[in-house]
Amino acid sequence: MIPFKGKMFVFSAPSGSGKTTIVHHLLSVGHLNLDFSISATSRPARGKEIHEKDYYFMPLSAFEKHIKDDNFVEYEEVYKGAMYGTLKSEVDRIWKEGKHVVFDIDVIGGLKIKRQFPEDTLAVFVKPPSLKIMEQRLRDRKTDTEEKILERLAKAENEINYAKDFDFILINDDLSTAKKDAELLVENFQNKSDN
Ligand code: 5GP
Repeated sequence: MIPFKGKMFVFSAPSGSGKTTIVHHLLSVGHLNLDFSISATSRPARGKEIHEKDYYFMPLSAFEKHIKDDNFVEYEEVYKGAMYGTLKSEVDRIWKEGKHVVFDIDVIGGLKIKRQFPEDTLAVFVKPPSLKIMEQRLRDRKTDTEEKILERLAKAENEINYAKDFDFILINDDLSTAKKDAELLVENFQNKSDN
């Protein structure tokens, strides 16, 4: 028997673009056979976040040890003082389950994965209809301070420049259409690769 080697689906976007909602939707569609890549981070858990479900939370020293031991597929200092990364062991865990991997990671990390596994990765950039609408979504969410919102907006302006480097740009204007389109993208990539 040939060991299963799954595909990689990267969803990257500025925060407030609806990316996480789309990823959760894809995970709920059973026949897509996807599992979520739980990232490691040095930032503390927020609110209802759970260790080993939302992230592998760890102190900076432990994160740095993983870097030294070459345990990451990719890692980034996404925000000042906060490290995020995908552990190689996480991808192996999901492939061993016989599933495909979904990543909800930042734009730079997403492109690093695409560069390492060009044939096996579909990289999708989720774009908000406009920066104004994105700002409104961030404010409606009421989870961030004003300072944090401004930091996220500044990052978004920079991230949008990378959209052209992705395989596909998914404009999240209407959420139910975007969910359906994301589903079709994943299905098509799986079918194409099966042939
Ligand atoms: P948050 O702190 O809001 O959970 O995430 C902040 C940002 O880090 C988001 O854009 C998220 O997609 C990104 N992120 C989460 N995990 C990873 C990862 O493993 N690698 C990279 N490069 N970015 C990540």
